[in-house]
Amino acid sequence: MTVHTGKKLQNFINGEWVEARTEAYKSVPNPATGEEIAQVPLSSKEDVDRAVANAREAFRSWRRTPVPKRTRVLFKYQQLLMDHFEELAELITIENGKCYDDAYGEVQRGIECVEFAAGAPHLMKGEALPEIASHIESSMYRYPVGVVGGITPFNFPMMVPCWMFPLAVACGNTFVLKPSEQTPLLAERLVELFMEAGLPKGVLNIVHGAHDVVNGLLEHEEVDAISFVGSQPVAEYVYKTGTQYGKRVQALAGAKNHSIVLKDCEMDKTIEGIIGGAFGSAGQRCMATSVVVVTEDIADSVVERLIQGADQLKLGDGLQSDVNLGPVIRDAHLKKVHDAVEEGIEEGAELARDGRKDVTGDLPGGYFIGPVIFDHVTSAMKVWEKEIFAPVLSIVRVKDLTEAIEVTNKSDFGNGAVLYTTSGSAVREFREDIEVGMLGVNVNVPAPMAFFPFSGWKKSFYGDLHANGTDGVNFYTRRKMLTSRWS
Ligand code: NAD
Repeated sequence: MTVHTGKKLQNFINGEWVEARTEAYKSVPNPATGEEIAQVPLSSKEDVDRAVANAREAFRSWRRTPVPKRTRVLFKYQQLLMDHFEELAELITIENGKCYDDAYGEVQRGIECVEFAAGAPHLMKGEALPEIASHIESSMYRYPVGVVGGITPFNFPMMVPCWMFPLAVACGNTFVLKPSEQTPLLAERLVELFMEAGLPKGVLNIVHGAHDVVNGLLEHEEVDAISFVGSQPVAEYVYKTGTQYGKRVQALAGAKNHSIVLKDCEMDKTIEGIIGGAFGSAGQRCMATSVVVVTEDIADSVVERLIQGADQLKLGDGLQSDVNLGPVIRDAHLKKVHDAVEEGIEEGAELARDGRKDVTGDLPGGYFIGPVIFDHVTSAMKVWEKEIFAPVLSIVRVKDLTEAIEVTNKSDFGNGAVLYTTSGSAVREFREDIEVGMLGVNVNVPAPMAFFPFSGWKKSFYGDLHANGTDGVNFYTRRKMLTSRWS
């Protein structure tokens, strides 16, 4: 695979790479080295108009293409993605910084979305009741929604776009993707391979850029639905604006995920799980463990073991096989993380491990911070409240599971929560009382899977129908009911 250093990226509209109508470009560095790997255009609303017009035109025939014929393209696409597995994983590491193993797992998750979408002939089926009243039958039919806009974050350049366009397209929609301007390269390979699989022109388009492109999609009267994944303030804005313009919107937002540790857990696996959940992908996952809530009786030993586990992690370029903690995405983000650590210290949290001191001498241009662990954190502190999106972990000490659930439920977010225990009744209490959408028991992260809806609660989600699974199918389809009398 070749990464085109310094390459000026283009938009992909109606099956062709075209130059964006803008003078504004942003440098895209490899976060492990700081070296420029591409320049991404900050496209204009004119570019959005062009992409949407082509997507609308393509919709006329794509929606009428028989569903099995549409999904045959997805079967080929799946094979091509498998053939390019390593290349895709490597590209994710280069543009995002996450370690190759994490990137590899991301490619797998993305491919599973394509596999689920390839079931569209089944998923698109309607329902019928032949005798709903005397001589009257009722039936339900599914149709695509139209042109869908997808707006994605930097942290999963493959998986998150794959939550969206494969299923949307399989359902007969056409799509305009605006990838994160921080990780724009992977999307280009995704579209190239889809075209190679036989996708007709105009069905999937890419417009690179930032807020102008987002606003262009939100305001465009020919865009029918918006799928968004990103931070909480932007998700709220996208949801409010998109719905104001009459669109169907699903907006998946930020998180502050708690992992609860009980005395009866399998401790070795628990420590391993938390280290993976908190520091994997440098904490830049919407399912990352941000807070460990642990009962007082075992807290000292858990903290000690977490510090020992964190000390074992090797910071560096994620392409090196012995590295297990990559950089954060940008210098500006690194600065915010340092500010958040300072804030935690000022508000009285005990800095049990200071990852700011960990350095990678051989990569001076990279955006690195080692694992940070705060002990004796309370729910009154900002370090507990705010999403930091970095390898920063807070420890909250509680007396029992009930208090642990109360602390977790105080969070504005409700994306993920994990319980480490061997007790079935504890699992039951956790499952029944926690106000969170994605639950895990004895797993480091309750990862979203293509086959089930991905369902954060509270400020982690805006909308009604979630991503993936049957919710995804419902989001990307409209239904018609037909009632007929045949006597
Ligand atoms: P972000 O909100 O900064 O960016 C997401 C997208 O919105 C990007 O495409 C960006 O160009 C666009 N955008 C940013 N600011 C905008 C503005 N002011 N107006 C219009 N558009 C704007 O998010 P990010 O930093 O790329 O990603 C990290 C965030 O995403 C974290 O908060 C993380 O929790 C969240 N996330 C959530 C999920 C989930 O499933 N809930 C999954 C992945 C990431």
